[in-house]
Amino acid sequence: MPGDINEIINKTVNYLKFVKDYYPADIINELKRIEIIKDVPEKKEEINYEPENIYEVKEKKEDNSGKDTFVREAVNSGIFSEPWMVTEDMHSLDKLICNCKKCGLGNLRTNFVFGTGNPEAKVVLVGEAPGADEDREGKPFVGRAGKLLTDILAAIKFSRDEVFICNILKCRPPDNRNPLPLEIKECEPYLIKQLQLIKPAFILALGTFAAQTLLKTNLPLGKMRGRFYDFIIGERKIKLLVTYHPAALLRNPGWKRPTWEDVQLFKKEYDSFIQNNKL
Ligand code: URA
Repeated sequence: MPGDINEIINKTVNYLKFVKDYYPADIINELKRIEIIKDVPEKKEEINYEPENIYEVKEKKEDNSGKDTFVREAVNSGIFSEPWMVTEDMHSLDKLICNCKKCGLGNLRTNFVFGTGNPEAKVVLVGEAPGADEDREGKPFVGRAGKLLTDILAAIKFSRDEVFICNILKCRPPDNRNPLPLEIKECEPYLIKQLQLIKPAFILALGTFAAQTLLKTNLPLGKMRGRFYDFIIGERKIKLLVTYHPAALLRNPGWKRPTWEDVQLFKKEYDSFIQNNKL
């Protein structure tokens, strides 16, 4: 066998790491310069180089689990991992992703809104995306809707410090427009990584957008709320409930009653989980 297999693999990986930083056009030019390839026609147009998304969130279908079970797999489809993918704590995850520029929102933000609260929380609340107040302060749900959320949590005896609050998107979309599919594709892996590290037992999805993104459905919120879903990440089963977004409650007070029913249901299930697990 010519050479040691580990040495060959190491050299190949180093070579690929080196090549990864170059655009295809740079590589072709360099190969021409050292005369490894000749007669390559000049390209008139720029080579359109799209960085590959190497960490994707996939929905894994479970044959016999029924429609209430949703499985997310974080798949590294590239050769290289990025440092944040393998980090083991929330603080370094924040540090490693807070300068993200994977989508256009990275150039527009004032602050990256990682999320706040207990990094070992049993309960994670997931909203849509930061608004103007959140972008300014770098914290989720600090505007009017956030104050209402704090009150809702207090009504079921949770403080903001004991839960973890975050969003599907970590950066503010301009004029509070809806997140775009590409933005979700790039940002959702960060949320899945957060959930892998926090290891919560419960998720409360706030509003249509968060619920539709997490459950990968187009159903209206009225059809999704009122029952728990199993949201499975790795080996962990998380109970997920959907309710109205606090900003929607400010616009439509008629949704306060169903929201109150939802959060009471949530609290009841949480209390029995705590009791059953002697926590
Ligand atoms: N709305 C959201 O969905 N998230 C926030 O952080 C603020 C408002």
